[in-house]
Amino acid sequence: MSNSSRILRYVLPSASALLLLLAPARSLAQMVTAPLPQFTAIEHVRLIDGTGRPPQSNVTVVVEGQHIQAIRASTPDARSLPPGTRAIDASGQTMIPGLINAHGHLALVNGAANDASYYTEPHVLAELRQYEHYGVLDMLSLGLNRDLIYLIRAQQTAGNLDGATVFVADRGIGVPGGAPPIPHADDQLYAPKNADEARRDVDEAASRHTNFIKVWVDDLHGKLPKMQPEIYAAVIDEAHKQHVPVAAHVYALADAKLLVAAGVDVLGHSVRDQRVDPELIQAMKKHGTFYIPTLELDATFFLFADHPELLNDPFLIRATPAAELAKLRSPGYKASVDSDPTIAQHRKDLEMAKTNLRLMYRAGVRVGFGTDSGATPLRLPGYAEHLELQLMVEAGLTPLEALHCATQNNAKLLGIDMQTGTVAPGLRANFLLLDGSPAADIANTRRIVSIWHNGHAGSPWTTVAQQDAYKASAANTHAPDVAGATAMQTKRRPGTSAAAPKP
Ligand SMILES: [Zn+2]
Repeated sequence: MSNSSRILRYVLPSASALLLLLAPARSLAQMVTAPLPQFTAIEHVRLIDGTGRPPQSNVTVVVEGQHIQAIRASTPDARSLPPGTRAIDASGQTMIPGLINAHGHLALVNGAANDASYYTEPHVLAELRQYEHYGVLDMLSLGLNRDLIYLIRAQQTAGNLDGATVFVADRGIGVPGGAPPIPHADDQLYAPKNADEARRDVDEAASRHTNFIKVWVDDLHGKLPKMQPEIYAAVIDEAHKQHVPVAAHVYALADAKLLVAAGVDVLGHSVRDQRVDPELIQAMKKHGTFYIPTLELDATFFLFADHPELLNDPFLIRATPAAELAKLRSPGYKASVDSDPTIAQHRKDLEMAKTNLRLMYRAGVRVGFGTDSGATPLRLPGYAEHLELQLMVEAGLTPLEALHCATQNNAKLLGIDMQTGTVAPGLRANFLLLDGSPAADIANTRRIVSIWHNGHAGSPWTTVAQQDAYKASAANTHAPDVAGATAMQTKRRPGTSAAAPKP
């Protein structure tokens, strides 16, 4: 089929956008399931394969349907491609695996504010599409989900829906009167009062086939009650009985140590109250615990006040709701940030988080990748992940190391490294073509030429108007047969993207 119709899935010229608005509800699904050419050869590309090894130049990557079939040198005698192969000359371009965000959230933010009533199907779909358009091809929605997420996940698993492939940490387990301090509906969070209740909550989440369990362990600088160790010990024990891994929101070193000792699988934020010490590092290495830095969380509290020129960057504008952009550009915004007494703490927290990332990575702790994008209006889905890569490099990782965290390491964190996370034969064709090399400058991850997700190729958004048209269509288009998908969520298909990882 023609290249232009394949790209329709991502880039909607205005006439096509109108057609989609008027089209019946199945049109998105039909685009996703459109037939793929049997073979595509991407030639003369520079390959960063996600394993952390140096780039390979002048490579041919052959895609067969949804998978990578072969990788070889682009020599003339190697050009024995199967008949009918579509050849793409990618000279000057770099291929990286699709980015994976292991700490994001969905449909919590409406414009410039959090909104407890916003978690509805069109908003979840619009944000999954936004991630995908920024090259984030898999994302773990780390808590505060409503049950409708399972219907969407089932439709994606069945190949009926586009957007970043979603992984789920169910509702999450918070504290009565405590964290998370994010507006949410009653069916988006558990707040058990004792260990028995916590175990029942875990069992309920496991019965929905959640990919992860999330706990919040933070008193927000003494302002809120903190989850007691017997509660999270019960959560971790029960989750592991159900073969579900556990990720923890954490801030303080002492809590991190207790969580790791209790067997938590992922620390979902940086330790920020003090430097990490050998005791924590050794315990994490012994247990294989993952560490997700989420540097951009603290950075965005002041970044746009310090650097208002960023607000003119189309790459940021495309990710930002109009109301939030207006707020960030308003005359009083910088003064409000500069006079906010909590900002000094966020600046200190960012510097401590950078130091601790460097210490953890150099010591050999398994470092994943996440942003907390979507949790508040400042954490912009898609944009946040590219900013996070930049901040990880500022923290002292090389660009290849940062990309390795965001691809292969995160695929291991999610238990999907046999399917995706690297560019290798047999794996899913999930990769980005970039103009320039991020090994030379990590900012080149933003120069996306094309996005390949399960072999379907498309372009990033190029204009705000296209994005608005797409979002408008999403708001008017429901996931196909979501009501009929209920039965599918219990019939999970082994080897597909939504398979739950083992702890
Ligand atoms: Zn979060």
